[in-house]
Amino acid sequence: MAAVETDRDAPSALCSEFLNFSAKDTAAKWLQVSNLPKEVYQHLACYVPKIYCLGPNLNPQNEDLLAPLLLQSPLEWYLCGEEPSVGLAKLEQNNQPSQLCGHVFKVGEPTYSCRECAADPTCVLCMQCFLGSVHKEHRYRMTTSGGGGFCDCGDTEAWKKGPYCQKHEPNISDSSQKDPLANLSDEMIARTYNVFSIILKYAVDMLTWEKEDELPEGLEPPARGDTYYCMLFNDEVHTYEQVIYTLQKAVNCTQKEAVSFATTVDRDGRKSVRFGDFQFCEQAKSVIVRNTSRQTKPLRVQVMHSSVVAHQCFALKALTWLGQIIRYSDALRRILCQVGLQRGPEGENSSLVDTLMLCDSKMWKGARNVYHQLFMSSLLMDTKYKKLFAIQFAKNYERLQSDYVKDDHDREFSVTDLSVQMFTVPSLARMLITEENLMTTIIRTFMDHLRHRDLHGHFQFERYTAQQAFKFRRVQSLIGDLKYVLISRPTEWTDQLREKYLEGFSAFLELLKCMQGMDPVVRQVGQHIEMEPEWEAAFTLQMKLTHIISMMQEWCSSDERVLIEAYKKCLSALTHCHSGFTDGEQPITLSMCGHSVDTIRYCVSQEKVSIHLPLSRLLAGLHALLSKTEVAYRFPELLPLSELSPPMLIEHPLRCLVLCAQVHAGMWRRNGFSLVNQIYYYHNVKCRVEMFDKDLSMLQAGASMMDPNHFLMIMLSRFELYHIFSSADCRKRYNRENANKDVVQQNNTLIEEMLHLVIMIVGERYTAGVGQVECFDEIRREIVHQLCIRPMAHSELVKALPENENKETGMERVIDSVALFKKPGVTGKGLYKLRPESAKMFNLYFHHYSRADQSKAEEAQRKIKRQNGEDSVLPPPVLPRFCPLFASLVNILQCDVLLGILGAVLQWAMEPSGGHWSESMLQRVLHLIGMGLVEEQQHLLSSAEDNDTNFNFTLKISRPGEAPANTPSILALLETLQNAPHLEVHKDMIRWILKTVANIKTTRECTASAPPSDSSGHSQEETVRDKDKAERKRKAEMARLRREKIMAQMSEMQRHFINENKELFQQSLEELDPSTSSTLEHRYTGIPPEKIKQIKHEFPLISLFLLHSPSSCDSTLFCVGPRRWRAGGSDRRQVVTCILCQEEQEIRIDGKAMVLAAFVQRSTVMSKNRKRPPHNPDKYDPLFMHPDLSFGTHTGSCGHIMHSHCWQRYFEAVQAKEQRRQQRLRVHTSYDVENGEFLCPLCECLSNTVIPLLPLTKTSCSSEQPDLSQWLNITSLQMKALLSAHRKAKAADADGVDDMDGVNDCPPPDGFKLDYTPKNPYSSTIKEMLTTFGTATYKVGLKVHPNEQDPRVPIMCWGSCAYTIQSIERLLVDEEKPLFGSLPCRQDDCLSSLTRFGSACWTVSSHATVQNHFIRLLAALVPDPRVENTPCILDIDMFHLLVSLVLSHPAVFSLDSSGLSADTAQLYFLHLVTVAHIVQILLSSVPEEVQMEQESGGAEREEEEKVCMFYNTLRTHLGSGLREVDSGWHLWCCVKAGILPYLRAAALFFHYLNGAPAPPELHTLGVGEWEALCGYLCLPSNLLQLFYNNRELMEPVLHGWCSHPGVLQGLQSSVALIRFPRESNHLIELPGDYSALINQASSFTCPKSGGDKSRAPTLCLVCGAMLCSQSYCCQSELEGVDVGACTAHTFACGAGVGIFLRVRESQVLFLAGKTKGCFYAPPYLDDYGETDQGLRRGNPLHLCQERYRKIQKLWRQHSITEEIGHAQEANQTLVGIDWQHL
Ligand SMILES: [Zn+2]
Ligand SMILES: [Zn+2]
Ligand SMILES: [Zn+2]
Ligand SMILES: [Zn+2]
Ligand SMILES: [Zn+2]
Ligand SMILES: [Zn+2]
Ligand SMILES: [Zn+2]
Repeated sequence: MAAVETDRDAPSALCSEFLNFSAKDTAAKWLQVSNLPKEVYQHLACYVPKIYCLGPNLNPQNEDLLAPLLLQSPLEWYLCGEEPSVGLAKLEQNNQPSQLCGHVFKVGEPTYSCRECAADPTCVLCMQCFLGSVHKEHRYRMTTSGGGGFCDCGDTEAWKKGPYCQKHEPNISDSSQKDPLANLSDEMIARTYNVFSIILKYAVDMLTWEKEDELPEGLEPPARGDTYYCMLFNDEVHTYEQVIYTLQKAVNCTQKEAVSFATTVDRDGRKSVRFGDFQFCEQAKSVIVRNTSRQTKPLRVQVMHSSVVAHQCFALKALTWLGQIIRYSDALRRILCQVGLQRGPEGENSSLVDTLMLCDSKMWKGARNVYHQLFMSSLLMDTKYKKLFAIQFAKNYERLQSDYVKDDHDREFSVTDLSVQMFTVPSLARMLITEENLMTTIIRTFMDHLRHRDLHGHFQFERYTAQQAFKFRRVQSLIGDLKYVLISRPTEWTDQLREKYLEGFSAFLELLKCMQGMDPVVRQVGQHIEMEPEWEAAFTLQMKLTHIISMMQEWCSSDERVLIEAYKKCLSALTHCHSGFTDGEQPITLSMCGHSVDTIRYCVSQEKVSIHLPLSRLLAGLHALLSKTEVAYRFPELLPLSELSPPMLIEHPLRCLVLCAQVHAGMWRRNGFSLVNQIYYYHNVKCRVEMFDKDLSMLQAGASMMDPNHFLMIMLSRFELYHIFSSADCRKRYNRENANKDVVQQNNTLIEEMLHLVIMIVGERYTAGVGQVECFDEIRREIVHQLCIRPMAHSELVKALPENENKETGMERVIDSVALFKKPGVTGKGLYKLRPESAKMFNLYFHHYSRADQSKAEEAQRKIKRQNGEDSVLPPPVLPRFCPLFASLVNILQCDVLLGILGAVLQWAMEPSGGHWSESMLQRVLHLIGMGLVEEQQHLLSSAEDNDTNFNFTLKISRPGEAPANTPSILALLETLQNAPHLEVHKDMIRWILKTVANIKTTRECTASAPPSDSSGHSQEETVRDKDKAERKRKAEMARLRREKIMAQMSEMQRHFINENKELFQQSLEELDPSTSSTLEHRYTGIPPEKIKQIKHEFPLISLFLLHSPSSCDSTLFCVGPRRWRAGGSDRRQVVTCILCQEEQEIRIDGKAMVLAAFVQRSTVMSKNRKRPPHNPDKYDPLFMHPDLSFGTHTGSCGHIMHSHCWQRYFEAVQAKEQRRQQRLRVHTSYDVENGEFLCPLCECLSNTVIPLLPLTKTSCSSEQPDLSQWLNITSLQMKALLSAHRKAKAADADGVDDMDGVNDCPPPDGFKLDYTPKNPYSSTIKEMLTTFGTATYKVGLKVHPNEQDPRVPIMCWGSCAYTIQSIERLLVDEEKPLFGSLPCRQDDCLSSLTRFGSACWTVSSHATVQNHFIRLLAALVPDPRVENTPCILDIDMFHLLVSLVLSHPAVFSLDSSGLSADTAQLYFLHLVTVAHIVQILLSSVPEEVQMEQESGGAEREEEEKVCMFYNTLRTHLGSGLREVDSGWHLWCCVKAGILPYLRAAALFFHYLNGAPAPPELHTLGVGEWEALCGYLCLPSNLLQLFYNNRELMEPVLHGWCSHPGVLQGLQSSVALIRFPRESNHLIELPGDYSALINQASSFTCPKSGGDKSRAPTLCLVCGAMLCSQSYCCQSELEGVDVGACTAHTFACGAGVGIFLRVRESQVLFLAGKTKGCFYAPPYLDDYGETDQGLRRGNPLHLCQERYRKIQKLWRQHSITEEIGHAQEANQTLVGIDWQHL
């Protein structure tokens, strides 16, 4: 890039020229000239190349500065005729803005639509308008915009109601009719006109300019240099990677630069990748082309002269400028529209707007965006010109679409995408249909692009080339346009509209003709098909057209004349199609039961058959409409009824249904999955409305016009069952027919399907027009049948119902009448449950049930009936009446052929030998008989009104067969079957039938209309027997379920163990059985015995606590100090059971080690400073925890105990398995074995180490103990001796110089043996486990490699103990639970083993190291000049200090044999640390302003005085550093509140360490806590006494603390001190309404790529940071791996654990480390109690506090990682996600 240097200075060289420029003068000159365009062009030709494109790196500052000054300003001067700022302000003032909001949406911005009032789903409001509109009270939908499109507020056609928000409400004086130009002077109009036409023409010329080296006439630059750009254009063919790779090669840039080029090309559509002389650029071009031309077409590259690029740059600027200028006034906007649409010199379609549109696909993305924006803010905002633009758009439609189909850019970058803005406006759509014949144009254009047809003229998608497939995808957008045009139905029809609509309808029929019969299939026999045939394209087309077809019918239904014409057209199209079919149609005659009919010979199983019959189905739809609107009865003469040939109508739909039946019967197995998929979609809710449902309607229509016997015979013949039922002795023949077993099976299924079809033809009457129903009845029935399966959530119901073109199901209007809503709990969804009274609509053979649905529903309904103590029979429901046109269908039930079929099946069922008939078959037959009876009852009921009682089903079924067969009647057969033992399951139905028959007979005999039969009430005895049987069955089922559950809980590993210990496990499983449990513990604890057994089994430690809860409250309990409570010998005995080997084991110092599965993790949950950078793990000294608790180590456990050796064996097995698995398949697991992770073998809880269980230490305290000052003295001597000994040892180690001054002067006090090495009391396995856990804590807590020698190992263990106790103390406060007695067992176990481990871990470390830690710790408390680097007390967390002191002390204490007690030391540590904490609190917590002193009762008087005195003592030490406070009351309040968490934590600590039961006051919430705590901790309730009782001793200590330089620094520092008590951390506050979050996220831009919208804005719920997730731009490197913004953020904010809300997805994201994560249900619910992950449904979402609190609790409990583990175990796909990239 050598050319850069010389050109850099160019602008400054011109500076003087620029400075002398006057916009005003230029404008004035322009006013004089005669040829203005020429003058302006000259100006542009002169200046544009001087401003733009002067180097490779465009210099935006100069351009942005100079362009307005030199180019825009003179134009504005000219336009206004005065100072532009003044002129434009005037314009704005006079403007009467239109009522349209027109706000253009950004990507990700929330948009709102009203489900009740929007004309169609594309009508949306911006958030501002929505909040000011009536719709916020309606059922609205919320979505996020994909960018583009604008707010429809103010558009009266877009909204059925409330078109204006408050802001856009029109004034009373209606100004919309007035021409905005009226406000402008004629001169102004003329000038504006001049400027706009010159500039717009200039911009259009430049943007559509195709020459690379020349400029349009009049723009040639004065001077021409050899400066060129190598311009790279975007395409959607090449990948990012390809482009980046090519660029690196072609222009020698770094990968980073290449990425940046590629990003810009993708965003703007083009980017110059090289600047220089022609040769230089040409060279790069050839490399790029060469490199990308191999497989696909090459990348588009142009070498362009710099002046051309310069003018193009300015042209874009000019368009933007136009967009801005017209905002000042609607008049200017109208002038611009006029200029744009003015016909050009080339005549029609040659306006500037036309030119732009027609060149759309040739322009680069950036240019398209700019001019589309201008169109939206001008043409589409002006009511008059929107119409004219729409007309031009329609005129150019075909061309534009063809360009679009050939172009490869996404539709959002195409001008065709503007169609939605015009076509959805009902008045425009109607106008375009009538005047521009738009409907026909769209359909014809669509057809034109699908020219690939087979011999019959059908679409052929088979063997599409990639090119054709691509085109097919793009051309589908035309269907979208057609949908827009049709979406609002006309309320009034004109003749012209009728004509054009019918013309469009004819075009549509042509389209359907190409689909009728496409993709035919032929049954494959012998071999399986070799290649799955293509089927998806055809179904895609069908699915896309489904709504169109429905809308076509709705248009037809709104005008009778149109309906009749459309019906005729459709019929003739269908007839035309059928005349082409010639498949094996030779006539044959069928005869049966005395009837005969002629038909053709055709076998679905042998000949071609197609699922695609859109013409037949459209006709079926129109036929039902004719019936519904009653046109058929009023104008029969207008209808071509005579032309109808019912057999022709039913033929193809029947074939299709037979195909489905045969597929079910397994006859088409060799045809592969493609056919199975087609059948699936045929019935699927997305397609069935215009496929399956209409085929059924067509059969109903055809059958209603035929003799039912003829119809049924044809049906039998198509089902290929005719031969079975046709012979005279069919009843026997079938029985003997003993062919292939498969064939019998097949025939059985076919008979079942055939019977089902008959049931549906007679029984499905819920289509308006077929039955006498409204459309809501249909939806209601649909919902009832869904809810008969089980209660469902709103979204499940929506999914099960067909949606109309507005994405509405109509469910809301009827749901409440049939269902009850049940709100959700903290998990789960809100559910709708069927109202009991609605169950009577239940039809077992509901046509939309799959076989699985059917059996589920049957089971559920029978169960409900049994529960209500009713007969469980499910008879057919009472049905609505048919419309007259379909009324004859009921005769199918009583026709001879059907009765023959029914009789045959019943006859077969007489014999139990299976194979020749099936239960389902019989059930269907019984159902059909039931339908006949119900129908007859209905007829009898209504016979009073109309004398139509020739329906006599009972008579027909009572009639025996005629001679010579003399078969028994159906009724007789049923009576016989009633007692057949093999028909137990059908008995209740048979009984119901017989009873109903009897009832009908009585009714007929009585003639009077009796009430309908009562179906309940059979013998009492039988009910009891049934119930017994059911109960036994239920019990057996429950037992089975329980067994299964237990088995499921065991992991594979466990099974391994079970195999080894079979008997033991058998035993323990039996023990789980409640019946064998003992009741002893029950009496003591009140816990049910079975629970105790279980607890004992799962949590062995707990059993101890259960039995040792404090029994007496009379004696005072101390948990610390010489007088503390001590466990007796038997209390200390602790026996636990290993979950792996089931052996019992006593916990003993010298016994086998028992361990608890545990999980150690870093934590920032309690952090008060999230800004603190993570420590350097290698150098960090963790001895003193800072009070901001910024990083801690938390230990948790599931509470399950194992032998250490059992655990080791288990872990080794896991490791081995993992290694094998990783070698075999590169899969991940939810746990990281290499990091020591495993799942608890019992509960699968994620663990990464184990804690050894230790017994309580034996202590006694006999001799008199020293007081504080004596003890301090002794300790001080001990420290001195130790220190000098250590220094000596160190010096000796160093072999070094003897500079030990005074080292030998410190003899140890009596009984303190420096050289004594205490014996380690623990068994070898316990020692091993002590090391294991210590090392794990160290490794995880510091993020370092394990090193058991590291001196920091014990420190980390103490720290984890302290941190875990603190976090649990906080948790108890937050959950408002008492300190003791409310912890779950697992936490109790965990804390007790953790503290006891803490006191033992020194035994496996270097004693000197631990002693040294102790010396340093103590020095922080009792200042010691010999110890360096002691922090000041403001920088120490006192509870951590206390725990570390107590736990490190044994290392020193073990050297002592003087009879001192460890308990004494513990007590004095507690005293000293408490005083230090009081000081810390007083120093940090004194508020700015002291409130009025409050008088309190005498009881606290003393405390207040003392604390006041104490504070003043502090002031004497610190002087002005401390504010003067004389409110003792206030100070005492501070102390009391500030120290409480510390005291509570200390109580927990000593409780677990020493085993002392807690006093009952601490087992409850409420008053008395303070006294109880102080008592339990052996502290005076006036804590200041700790100071004043030992004043002489404490004064110097206090002085020592205060004189630490850090204290004064801390007090004076600007950084706020940590205040006590530390508040619990909360997750951030979330807004109540989810759209507020969407709005917030939509204005969030990626912090790294300068102002770009972030694609996946993600909110950290811990700190509130918004992140740009899942995107390359914000990746960063973490420990050598590229990670996304979220993962990177968790490392600082959450020590590796993160909780996020993905705003666009409405999804909570949990992350842990770099490899673990899961999604979690968001805390936002819609009104139906459901979350909307992915924001697909768009229902308004509101914050559910309980759910958010639950997430917060998971976080506070440190359970996020565990939750992820469980989620990943449950759903293996989560394991494969690259979480680190989020
Ligand atoms: Zn708006
Ligand atoms: Zn508005
Ligand atoms: Zn509304
Ligand atoms: Zn074991
Ligand atoms: Zn467990
Ligand atoms: Zn980013
Ligand atoms: Zn954060």
